[in-house]
Parts: sequence; structure tokens; C-alpha cells
Amino acid sequence: MSQSITRQDFDQWMMPVYAPAPFIPVRGEGSRLWDQQGKEYIDFAGGIAVNALGHAHPAMIQALTEQAGKFWHTGNGYTNEPALRLAKQLIDATFADRVFFCNSGAEANEAALKLARKYAHDKFGSHKSGIVAFKNAFHGRTLFTVTAGGQPAYSQDFAPLPPDIRHAVYNDLASASALIDDGTCAVIVEPMQGEGGVVPADPAFLRGLRELCDRHDALLIFDEVQTGVGRTGELYAYMHYSVTPDLLTTAKALGGGFPVGALLAKDTYASVMTVGTHGTTYGGNPLASAVAGAVFSIINTPQVLNGVKQRQQWFTERLLSINARYSLFNEIRGLGLLIGCELKAAYAGKAKQISQLAAEEGLMVLIAGANVVRFAPALIITEEEVTHGLDRFERACERFLAGVSP
Ligand SMILES: *Cc1c(COP(=O)(O)O)cnc(C)c1O
Repeated sequence: MSQSITRQDFDQWMMPVYAPAPFIPVRGEGSRLWDQQGKEYIDFAGGIAVNALGHAHPAMIQALTEQAGKFWHTGNGYTNEPALRLAKQLIDATFADRVFFCNSGAEANEAALKLARKYAHDKFGSHKSGIVAFKNAFHGRTLFTVTAGGQPAYSQDFAPLPPDIRHAVYNDLASASALIDDGTCAVIVEPMQGEGGVVPADPAFLRGLRELCDRHDALLIFDEVQTGVGRTGELYAYMHYSVTPDLLTTAKALGGGFPVGALLAKDTYASVMTVGTHGTTYGGNPLASAVAGAVFSIINTPQVLNGVKQRQQWFTERLLSINARYSLFNEIRGLGLLIGCELKAAYAGKAKQISQLAAEEGLMVLIAGANVVRFAPALIITEEEVTHGLDRFERACERFLAGVSP
């Protein structure tokens, strides 16, 4: 007999690193979810840019159950067909020649930073170990990646931190240029900062980083964990900017909800990662790879990618009209279906409150820092779901304003 579960159990049993919503979702379909009480939610959070095909997509269920009936895992002493097929899909669709599979975004970035250090050490010597990253960046929660991330609040409690990582100002090329020199082995950057507030890079900034990396023999790493797999309306955001990185990390939407991550690289760089230099038990797991293969082949089509641009328009037009009415937001920004609504100074710090009101209205949204309401819905969300979701968002905005003391 299974025990009945309530939200209060979380507070008693779980390590308190999260503060989940007061309800527990139990079932999903497309861009809708239902909680234990049967209340319906429209999902604009997309599992934090993960559920690119929404919930319970038939192609994902088929890929998962088909592989589940064959075998689940062998470990890295054996390769498998789904992993090799997925690798070929990624190689054919991008600049990369080689792929390393892991299970999360942090692990993909950890692998990228380790590769960059090893490449520099092998080729130039151990003095070339500097990593340049950016303030407000987010690269994951391992000690190396959280140190590369530009939010000291997330890393300082875990000191001593890995050394030789410095932070420039995002979208400020002069500030990056002041830190990048011949001792730099890698520059790691998000083509659009996600957690940092939904801030797209200026094209000239990314082009400038490419030039600086070339000049100083540093590897340019694009962290596309959040922007990848169609999120921006291109398969990867580097295609939107026409700036090609040396290494690219991808995770989140890659598995559509099944944990998987990957590091993509050109041959020249991948070749330093010889047998035994790196690995992970589950990387390239056949279940994860089978699901990711199905997700990737659906998303990497003109129909879905152009659909993202269409959907971005549905969102921004309606958000602008909501804002014309309530004047809550400074700016509505983003690329494709990663959209940020930045609150005006008068409402600074209140994004969480709006997200809580939205949940009461039956809408799941994200925040990105204290001042930005963030949407990262399924790439195939229907027009009806967008319309109804934004109706609910509008009611949440109205209630928020009614409750804010003048
Ligand atoms: C989410 C995210 C990560 C971390 O991914 P995990 O799967 O949580 O480890 C890294 N980089 C970016 C840009 C992200 O958005």
C-alpha cells in the first residue's frame, strides 16, 4: 500500500535546498499539468527550459518504452546504438566532430572546463590555466562550475574554491579584453544569460570574444545548456549569432525531461581526452540517448524551429499589450521562447510574488533573479494554451497591482 503524500512532507523529509510551490503536480499532457486536487495549470515554466515537447509526448513515450523493453544500461565498457545515433545527429547538425555524453548541464560544463585546461597544459604548459567567465552567469552547481558562475552568493560558502577563474562584465567587451591574455585557456559564456535575468548577448560582444580567444589561443566555450535545442528559434544560439565556439555544452531540452547532457567539440580539442582522462557511469545511457534522439529529430526541423519564432510573436504581442495596460515591466526581452519580463524599479524584488499569484490563477511561470518573470514553455505549445496562459498571467498582474501598497 502506498502512503499518501502531501506538500508538507517535503519540509520534513527533503534537504531544504529548494522552496517548491505549495501544490504537487501529478500528471501532465502537452503544456498542461494537474495537481493532487485536480487543479489545472498551464505550463510556461517548461521544467526550466527542459520540457521542449511538453509533457507525455507520444514520440518520447515510444522511444522510452521501446528501449526500456530492450536494455537500460551497460556502463562504458560497452557502447550502444542509441548513443551512437544521437552522437551522429548532433555532429551532423552542428560544428562538432565529437561528443561526450553526461547527465546534466553542470557535468557538461565541468567536462568542457577540464578539457580546456588539459588542452592548454598539453599544448602550451601548465601556466596556461586561466578561465574567464562573466558576472551573473550560471554554469551549474559543481564546485568548478559554481565558481565559474558569476554569483558569489552561490559559491562563497564552499570555499576554498578552484583558483584561476576571473569574471568580466557580460556584454562589456573591454572588461573581457582586460582579463583575457596568453595565460587564459578558456572563456566560458552563455550566448544569452538565462538564470542571470534573460539577457541576450550583443552580437559584437560574442564576435569580440571569438577574436580575443583566437588571438590568445584560448578556447571559446558556449554554455548552451538553456539556449540549446531550439529554444531561441535556431537549433543552437550560436547559429543565431553566426559565431562558432570551440566547445559547446547542451543539456536541459536535449532529453525533453530525461536527464542527459553533452559536450560537443572539434576533433583537435576532443583528441586530448584520451582513454581514462574523464568519464561518468551513466553518460550515454541507452534510455537517455533513445529519448534524446527522438526529441532531437522532432525539434531539428524547420517546422518546429520556425514555430518557435511564431510563438515568440504570440507571446511578445500579448505581453506588450498587457504591459500597455498595467505598466509593470521595463522591458520584455529574450530570443525565441526564452522570454524575460523585467519589473520596473517600483516593483523591484517582486517577481516571486507574481509567480505565486500566477500559480493561484493556474499558470506556472519562472523567475530569473528577483526582478524578472521568465517564460520557457514547450517549443510546440499550442496557440490556445498560450492564449489561456496569458489570460491567467494578466489576472495575476492585475491582482499583483491591486495588492501592492501605493
Ligand atoms: C541549468 C543550467 C546549467 C546547469 O544545468 P544542470 O543540469 O542543472 O546541472 C548550466 N548552465 C546553464 C546556462 C543553465 O541554464
